[in-house]
Amino acid sequence: MNQILLVEDDPMLGTNLKLNLELEGFKVDWAQNLAEAFATNEQQPYQLALLDLGLPDGSGLNFCRSVREKGSRLPIIILTAQSDEDSVVEGLSAGADDYVKKPFSNREVVARIRAALRAPTVREEQIRVGNLLVLMEQRRVYVGQEEIPLNRREFDVLKILIARPGVVVTREMIITQLGDSAEHIFDRTVDSHVSHLRAKLKKAKECNIRVKSEYGVGYRIATLD
Ligand code: CA
Repeated sequence: MNQILLVEDDPMLGTNLKLNLELEGFKVDWAQNLAEAFATNEQQPYQLALLDLGLPDGSGLNFCRSVREKGSRLPIIILTAQSDEDSVVEGLSAGADDYVKKPFSNREVVARIRAALRAPTVREEQIRVGNLLVLMEQRRVYVGQEEIPLNRREFDVLKILIARPGVVVTREMIITQLGDSAEHIFDRTVDSHVSHLRAKLKKAKECNIRVKSEYGVGYRIATLD
């Protein structure tokens, strides 16, 4: 059964939507503000979110952005009372998949939901090491909400190290995996990529991952206790 997260602060509208969607065979959890939406979304993987923008503790756009920043492809349909184009555009650029303008009919919402659920969603490969979240395709790295900006080589090195957490990876292995014909890679170069990566991880508040060096051998990824 499809689990839907409904985020709506209007009690009448929320009650009506929840009831109607349940009659259509969906299972609905209803969050009435932004904080509840975040907390509920942590509880389980939803197949779709219906998201009101004007919430008592902030804008639904914050939910949208945060979910996308964490790499989730959760389909999100915005319920917008602000029928102006700006809020719709802003919603779509914040990562929403579709929108429905209030007032809407239940039939319209259900049709949009079914369409969004049919759309193919390809989940991006994510790797978690400690509290580090690595989005492999986007080549982005997060600790909580904070993104750690890595350049191409730093990301490549991180990717090699996190493939074997805790295990020492030799410089030679790193060189082989980084190697391409266009660029010669030397021990010194690897050391410099690693030291930049190490400094950035260390600088990120609350990051519990460190790059340890094993003298004369190579490097390994370790989690702080
Ligand atoms: Ca509202």
